[in-house]
Amino acid sequence: MYLFKKAARLQSYLKNQRHSHTIGFVPTMGALHEGHLSLIEEAQKAGDQVVCSIFVNPTQFNEQKDLDTYPRTPHKDISLLEKVGCDILFMPDAGQIYPEGTTTTFSMDFEGLDKTMEGAFRPGHFQGVAQVVKRLLDIVQPQNLFMGKKDFQQLAIIRHLINTLNLPVNLVPCATFREKDGLAMSSRNARLSEAARKAAPTIYEVLKKTKAQYGTTSIPDLEQQALAALNAVPLLKPEYFTIVDGHSLQPAEALPNSEYLVACVACWADDVRLIDNIRIKPNN
Ligand code: AMP
Repeated sequence: MYLFKKAARLQSYLKNQRHSHTIGFVPTMGALHEGHLSLIEEAQKAGDQVVCSIFVNPTQFNEQKDLDTYPRTPHKDISLLEKVGCDILFMPDAGQIYPEGTTTTFSMDFEGLDKTMEGAFRPGHFQGVAQVVKRLLDIVQPQNLFMGKKDFQQLAIIRHLINTLNLPVNLVPCATFREKDGLAMSSRNARLSEAARKAAPTIYEVLKKTKAQYGTTSIPDLEQQALAALNAVPLLKPEYFTIVDGHSLQPAEALPNSEYLVACVACWADDVRLIDNIRIKPNN
């Protein structure tokens, strides 16, 4: 695996690779787990030369404490990527992504996609996510961009970014990789205490139950029942549990004819904030 820290070096290496390969890109913030590695595998299956990036992007953190405590395991990450046969790792510092003297402000109208759910609880988060992904896409210029459905709202934001700016990249949404007990893999799971780790699988259980009950119970009741079930577990504290139209992210009640519904949840497990989601319509 080739490791680059400088954008210019990476770009000159990729210039040659482009003649013979399509480039697949997997942006991450590191502390890699099997969920991340499943995206690398998807890119490999597509036959791409795979570029993974590790950059803990400060502009998407709305709380300094969250940025400071975000897990960082660079040595382990490098050996995991070597093991799965990732071709190229880009590990820039902030100066490479936001060089001094260049404008770092970013603002895009996401037509409300950034105002609900994560956007409501984490002001500025999605402007930061879009900013860093745009910058990374400018550097790497991949044909394919692999991102996880676990961050469902993030996918909608990046799809909007790509469509609005007409970026020449194909967004490939990838399935959520889970622990055996159903907990969605996340870098933040490493920070769970033993007790919080035991409680956390309830989040996916509640999502599955909601899916199973869809059609027999009204949407507001489904949401209320899910919140109550989460609140009933010591250490779990849901921030929201919302069933939305999967395209507009507007509440499902406002769009009774929607053919695409997704239940999305953010829930604290002790002091760790976790998110997850499940598609409930179509029901397969
Ligand atoms: P992160 O390092 O959390 O920014 O995640 C980097 C990429 O990995 C994003 O596209 C995430 O959606 C994706 N990802 C994170 N966790 C999972 C998971 N459990 N399964 C699949 N993809 C994931």
